[in-house]
Amino acid sequence: MVKCMFFLFCLAMHSIVFAANSQAFSQNAADGSCPEPTGRVVVPADASYNKARLVSNYHSSKNSYPKAIVYCQNAQDVQNAIKWARCRNMPIRVRSGGHNHEGFSTGTDALVIDVSEMKALQVDKDKGIASVQPGITGGELYRALFKEGLSQVGGTCEEVGLSGLVLTGGMGPLGRIRGLACDNLISFDIANADGQILHVTSDNEYKDLFWAACGGGGGNFGVVTSLVIKVYPAKPVTWFNIGWDWNQPIEKVIAAWQEFFLKEDRRWFSHLDIWAKSFPSEKFKKQPVKALGMFYGTPEEAKKELAPLLNIGRVSDQTIELVDWEKAIKLFEDSTKTFITEKPEYKSTGSFAMKPFPHEAIKIIVDTLQGSTSPLLNVLFLCLGGAIQDRAPTDTAYYYRQAEFLAVYSSQWLQEKDEAQLIGEVNALRDRLLPYTKGDYVGNPDRNIKDYLRAYYGENVERLKLVKRKYDPQNIFRFEQSIPL
Ligand SMILES: Cc1cc2nc3c(=O)[nH]c(=O)nc-3n(C[C@H](O)[C@H](O)[C@H](O)COP(=O)(O)OP(=O)(O)OC[C@H]3O[C@@H](n4cnc5c(N)ncnc54)[C@H](O)[C@@H]3O)c2cc1C
Repeated sequence: MVKCMFFLFCLAMHSIVFAANSQAFSQNAADGSCPEPTGRVVVPADASYNKARLVSNYHSSKNSYPKAIVYCQNAQDVQNAIKWARCRNMPIRVRSGGHNHEGFSTGTDALVIDVSEMKALQVDKDKGIASVQPGITGGELYRALFKEGLSQVGGTCEEVGLSGLVLTGGMGPLGRIRGLACDNLISFDIANADGQILHVTSDNEYKDLFWAACGGGGGNFGVVTSLVIKVYPAKPVTWFNIGWDWNQPIEKVIAAWQEFFLKEDRRWFSHLDIWAKSFPSEKFKKQPVKALGMFYGTPEEAKKELAPLLNIGRVSDQTIELVDWEKAIKLFEDSTKTFITEKPEYKSTGSFAMKPFPHEAIKIIVDTLQGSTSPLLNVLFLCLGGAIQDRAPTDTAYYYRQAEFLAVYSSQWLQEKDEAQLIGEVNALRDRLLPYTKGDYVGNPDRNIKDYLRAYYGENVERLKLVKRKYDPQNIFRFEQSIPL
């Protein structure tokens, strides 16, 4: 058994800060019947508060002012935080990597229970499993596991928290071979609404909660304090990145990409990333239109098979090479990095394509991207299928198993005056494509979707509500788009 304790961040230094902060906080608040909040407590008077109150989308969190943020260091801190907040009748928000687009993991007057400093990792190479604390990010986990020759089934964004990813589903480069991140969850521990820790597996007394956690678990039922996941050998892979400029037949590119990645062959994974025609690609050193991804085979094979894409118009960038797994993940992260400022203000929404977009839908996408005055309007297709489809839509809370692609529509703005127009443009694009799509990924939430429960969970809504009533009967874990009782 290989054990590696990972990122035990400056604990000694922290504990000095915790003591001082938590004392000030509890003197203000505790009436003696509630446990003291423990961990690193940040309150509005602290210099670090202004950063701590935010999530990655500045737009959706800039007006959120929590009462406090508790950076938990262990499960006991989480338990204390839940109990303490309940004693004070204080709303709770749960946060890990803080990448919820709509800022549902922070909130005004709430106690934010933040697990991002809980990053311990233990690997059992023989069993092919890893026990992970919930705050480790995708990038941290890929890098740590790669040292053992292994990989998790994760996403493509380095900074997304593992628990946030797994609980909302988790799509990524191994998806077509291994399924979603949540399909590779073996068990987890969760602090429930009473602050008790439950050990949850797919076949113990809490199996209904296990079912719900795979795609319906983000912030709804409790705070996950540890997870056991499957890990796999990390092998070299063929990385490909094919770029086009807007003077090429982009409608054909979209049609060919869809056709190509519908294939049964699970060795392919790709994103199609398309920026508005006005996107300053020189300035951002990014190709405006690119198909990128991984092929679990040789570059020669890849090049041959990719011919239908490579032969469209004039390709302006073409990389097809064998790289080690760690480099492939890094290349993916770098190529798809979307945010162009430290405090990005953006709107993201999307929907699932159960079958390829027909010509008229492709035309809507291309016309919108060509006509937009916003250079930062983006349409991203993620290919799904493969092992994700091996389970039925009701086997786990993640409903859209049969989807072929996820389409994500997003825009960023640099000046507040552009906000309303650009949000409107993204919403209008989603609306126009609704006849060709279904629902939305709960990991890509959108507060403008009125019937969000159907949109995220399809036919699984009623069962999710049953789980909610059983595990959180007083609806302690609630936010704007949580699962209601
Ligand atoms: C730049 C970017 C890239 C992305 N790339 C991908 C991708 O490649 N694949 C993919 O599938 N998704 C992707 N996503 C979506 C992302 O995976 C989800 O939004 C995910 O839920 C974010 O998790 P987080 O921990 O970073 O965010 P947070 O905001 O901290 O949490 C997200 C949700 O999960 C809940 N939660 C977090 N931790 C816990 C916990 N320990 N216990 C209970 N609830 C918890 C929160 O309350 C919140 O509702 C991306 C998002 C962004 C912004």
